[in-house]
Parts: sequence; C-alpha cells; structure tokens
Amino acid sequence: MAKIQTPQPVRGTQDIFGEDQERFSHVVETFERVRRLYGFKGVQMPVFEPTAVFARSLGETTDVVSKEMYSFEDRGGDSLTLRPEFTAGISRAFLTNGWQQHMPLKLSTHGPLFRYERPQKGRYRQFHQLDAEIIGAGEAAADVELLCFADQLLNELGISDGVTLQLNTLGDAESRDAWRDALVEHFRAHKADLSQDSQDRLERNPLRILDSKERQDRPIADSAPEIDAYLSDEAKEFFAEVTEGLDACGVVWERNSRLVRGLDYYRHTAFEFVTDRLGAQGTVLAGGRYDGLIESLGGPVTPAVGWAAGIERLGMLLTDFGKCVSIAVVADSKELETKAREVTQRLRSNNLACEMSYKGNPKKQVDKARKRGHDGVLFVREPDSPGGEFYIQRFVDLEEFVGLSAKIGRVLGTPIVDSNDR
Ligand code: ATP
Ligand code: MG
Repeated sequence: MAKIQTPQPVRGTQDIFGEDQERFSHVVETFERVRRLYGFKGVQMPVFEPTAVFARSLGETTDVVSKEMYSFEDRGGDSLTLRPEFTAGISRAFLTNGWQQHMPLKLSTHGPLFRYERPQKGRYRQFHQLDAEIIGAGEAAADVELLCFADQLLNELGISDGVTLQLNTLGDAESRDAWRDALVEHFRAHKADLSQDSQDRLERNPLRILDSKERQDRPIADSAPEIDAYLSDEAKEFFAEVTEGLDACGVVWERNSRLVRGLDYYRHTAFEFVTDRLGAQGTVLAGGRYDGLIESLGGPVTPAVGWAAGIERLGMLLTDFGKCVSIAVVADSKELETKAREVTQRLRSNNLACEMSYKGNPKKQVDKARKRGHDGVLFVREPDSPGGEFYIQRFVDLEEFVGLSAKIGRVLGTPIVDSNDR
C-alpha cells in the first residue's frame, strides 16, 4: 500500500501550544477581568456572516474586502465570509437583535479572525483579537473610557513600557472629505514616484497611502497635507474633549496627525498603540470612532467607537504571563500511591496546582516533574518517617513559594518540612 501522506496545516495558521498558549491565555484572562471593571458585557459572535455584512460596512475599496477575505458559497448557494474583523458582525447583531434598547451598549469579545495576507512573524491568516465596542454613544466621554480601558489592559499585562498611544482625529464627514480631496491632489502630483500599490489606492482609498509601509512612499506620505487645516470647529472641539479627558485620567498619548485607519467607516477619533519591539508588525491595539457604519448596514444613525487588539502580538510582548506555582506529588513507595492520589485531589480541591505521574519509580517521577516545569515535589511518605510524613523539595527559589508549604500543611493538617527550611 502507498504510504499515506499526512495533510499539512493551512499556510498562515498556527497550532498554539506550550509557552505560547500560556501567553495567549494570560492575555485573554486579563482582558476578561479588566473588561468587567469597565462594565463591558461579553458577547459570542458567529465566525461567519453573509458576505454583504463586511462588503457594505468595510467598503468595497478597502484592502480587507478587495483582497483579504475568505469568501465562499455554501451548499445553499449563499455567499458567506469568515469574519476578517469583529466590528461589522457586532453591528449586524446590534440591528438584527434590536439591541438599541440597551444603548449605550458596551460589548467585548475575543476569538479567531481570517484574512488572506502574506504570513510573517506577527501576521497570520487565522489570527486572534480582543475586541471592545461602545455602540450608541456619540459623546467624547465614550472615546475616553474606551482608551482608558485599553491603557489599563496594557498596564496590567505589564507591557505599557515601550508601547505608545498615537492619537489622531479624522474629523467629521465634512472635514474628512475635504482632507481626502487635498490628499488626492497631493498624491496625484507625485503619482509617478509612488509604489504600484499606492498608485492603485490613489482613486480607491487615498487615505491608506499615508499608512504605506513601502519605503519609496514614505517621503510623499510624510509631506502630505495634515488633517488640521480641514477640521471643522465641531470636529476640533470633539478632539479637544477627548484629549482633555485622557489627560485628566493620566493616559499618556502622542499626536500623530497622519494616522489613518484602513477601513472606510472611521470618523473623529483614530488611534493605535504602537511598539518598536515587534519589527514591522508594531501595532498591537487599534481602533476609533465609526459613526457611519451602522447606517451603511441599513440601520438608523448610531454613533459608535471601538478597538481591537491582536492577541498573538500582545502575547509576544509579555515578560510575565501569570504562571502559578505548581508541584508534583510523588509517592515514596508503591503502597503509598493511593494515598498520594488522594492528597493530590485534596490539594486541587483547595486551589493548589499539582500533578501526579501515572507511572515510574520516585526518582523518574522527580526527573519528569522538572521536565514538565513543576516548581517542586511533595513526597508522600510513611506516617512514621523520620523527616515527617510529607516533605517538599523545591526546584526553584520562587518568591511565590514562600507560604506554599504552610498552605499545603494547612490543607493536609500537619506541618510540612521543606528543603529550604534546612
Ligand atoms: P496592520 O496594519 O498590521 O495590517 P490592520 O490595520 O490591518 O493592521 P486592524 O484591522 O486594525 O489591523 O486589527 C487590529 C489589530 O489586530 C492589529 O493592530 C494587530 O494587532 C492585529 N492584526 C491585524 N491583522 C493581523 C494578522 N494578519 N495577524 C495577526 N494579527 C493581526
Ligand atoms: Mg492589515
């Protein structure tokens, strides 16, 4: 028989395991804790939607819709798309469920997204995001609250050093259109020097040229007109309210008057938390105000603001990812195994992390405990053993270990001898 070929994973997907998985979980757990502090309700969204949900709300001319979507026809002949982002689906859900009654609605979610991009470090075809949205609030206070949430999240993840909040305003529809015209005029004058991609964007999505990563585009993008000259008084006032709110809350920001977001629906506030520690993939969290989106899905005028953050990129920046102290329980002899399993169970019931091998002599089990990343071993011995019935051998001198022996002692109802006490 011919050898069976093992199917390979889809390019740009990841099997997240080991330390990467610990990092991933720590990001999600921290997000789930912090979003509750800010009163955001969790929501679970479908992974696919009718293609129209994204095509209408993101705009046909955006990179995501024109070249990054995974769209397919299902068996019933409907065109479906694997979600490339959360906001459009959440806006659809807002309308089809009649969530208007909950406005202002603060929602958060996380999960996988799909974009047909060129895979590289920090850029995948299936990636994962945290997402936060406030729907039905046109007040600058909503933008401020959302940014405080993002800032606190990065703080609690311990990664705010070296990550800067870059802030811009795209103005209201009127300001944005006037700026757009000025940009088109500027880029047309330099068209021949632009990269092919940017030449294509010139008619479809000129704002995106500002964001180009092509070196030949940078001087032209950097000398482009800034939004400030085109802002209406109202837009200026809104932006001032946002920045004053951030200052009052101690959120540090930096103005980047050429920051734009890739999707058509943004108005007023646009922002990115950026680091230089991830090479070209330096944006870890990004968002802004999208007052026009819900209308583009056929709903009533509904102001909204939100952000999304790449879980993988946040995970890569972590230096401490909430590892809890764990020990291996080892029976001194075959006869003590049942007792050791009962001890293991009792420790877990009392919120202490531990594991016991299925097999192997004590020495092998200790070696294995080291390899599996445990921080020490709890030996279960004969009740009349000279050193006591229980004995802890530490592998590391962790600070968290202080008090652990005492805690175990309380659970087991007897003082525990610890290798560090000698
Ligand atoms: P980029 O400029 O890096 O392509 P974007 O503007 O397309 O980002 P958004 O749509 O704003 O990104 O998504 C928000 C965040 O999601 C990004 O800042 C990034 O952290 C993450 N992200 C976006 N695309 C990917 C991807 N293909 N792989 C991994 N993370 C991603
Ligand atoms: Mg992108």
